[in-house]
Amino acid sequence: MALDDRFTRCRTIGHAWFDCDSDWKTDMGVPLTVRCERCMTERRDTVSRSTGDLVQRHYFYPDGYKRSWEEVMSRSDFRLALLSLRIKEARQSRGNGKQAAS
Ligand SMILES: [Zn+2]
Repeated sequence: MALDDRFTRCRTIGHAWFDCDSDWKTDMGVPLTVRCERCMTERRDTVSRSTGDLVQRHYFYPDGYKRSWEEVMSRSDFRLALLSLRIKEARQSRGNGKQAAS
């Protein structure tokens, strides 16, 4: 099964986090939610209101993310996957450019 392109970037260079509203509650501190703009993985941090320390951290992965990780284990494999993805995307954008020009 082919690796989902969204996950290739995240597994290789890390998630593209942005902070967002939290729709969950915790008794142990203040909820802080960040989400990846590429793959929509969500990280739920519980932060101590007094010290700012991280109390808890949970990840919620979209369908297919864990599977992609288990199938292709090493960082090196992900780097290779990202490099071929970039070549594929460069080909696609060149193709689009030609279509637009003709
Ligand atoms: Zn991601």
